[in-house]
Amino acid sequence: MKVYISVDMEGVAGIVDWQQCIAGGDDYALGRELVLGEVNAAIEGAVEAGATEILVNDSHSFMRNLPPGALGARTSYLSGRFKPLYMMEGLDASFDAILFLGYHAAMQTPGTLSHTYNPRAFANVLLNGTVTGEAGINALVAQHHGVPVALITGDQYVGPEAASFCRDIDVVEVKRSISRYAAENLHPDVACARIREGAVTALRRDRTPPAIDLPATLEVELMSPDMAEQATWLRGVERVDSRTVRIADDDPLALYRTFMTLVFLTRSLVEPR
Ligand SMILES: [Zn+2]
Repeated sequence: MKVYISVDMEGVAGIVDWQQCIAGGDDYALGRELVLGEVNAAIEGAVEAGATEILVNDSHSFMRNLPPGALGARTSYLSGRFKPLYMMEGLDASFDAILFLGYHAAMQTPGTLSHTYNPRAFANVLLNGTVTGEAGINALVAQHHGVPVALITGDQYVGPEAASFCRDIDVVEVKRSISRYAAENLHPDVACARIREGAVTALRRDRTPPAIDLPATLEVELMSPDMAEQATWLRGVERVDSRTVRIADDDPLALYRTFMTLVFLTRSLVEPR
């Protein structure tokens, strides 16, 4: 069994502030330690469930948040910036299951550190008319390769948001968000034990890949009208109203790629301040 792990950071138990998950932050060392613990718990669970090959794709910020040698089970580590498929880079049809670890809620949800790819550019994203966070958008790539998403971990919001797009996904809740900067967190040891057990259960069950209706449509509400205007410079992106654009495609991977290009474009559109 081959298992693919896409690991973000804001949904990890104990993390409630950007200082803990951006390199240079005054508490970043603690954040890295917490995320490493949860990744290794998932790896242990995957091995127990029969995984013979595991790939961890670092999906957060500069995407080199883990010490490679500390990953359990001699797991391969996909790290570093400018990956064309970003949080889903490295996935292909040879994988049997996907785990989304440390995921956070969508921008318009009051979860801890909630955002959708770029908090300074995206106010809201709908996939086929339903609010989606990063898990739902990433499910487009899972669907293209026909790989089921077996488990998501994070706060109380990530499971329901992902379930709209990833059929019968399992959820391990490691914290209760109180606000965008506060949460009641499980003790890291408890969070890790639940993730380990959750991974075993999730990987032992048969699941079906995402089946998002095609052609699929992403409706993206940007922070400002000029960002929406600039988004239309990309082929296939059409303006809906002053701050909203729409992208539709029969091919889920093509849709994801166009959205990712928009993500990269918005990084250069944010006004300096
Ligand atoms: Zn992140």
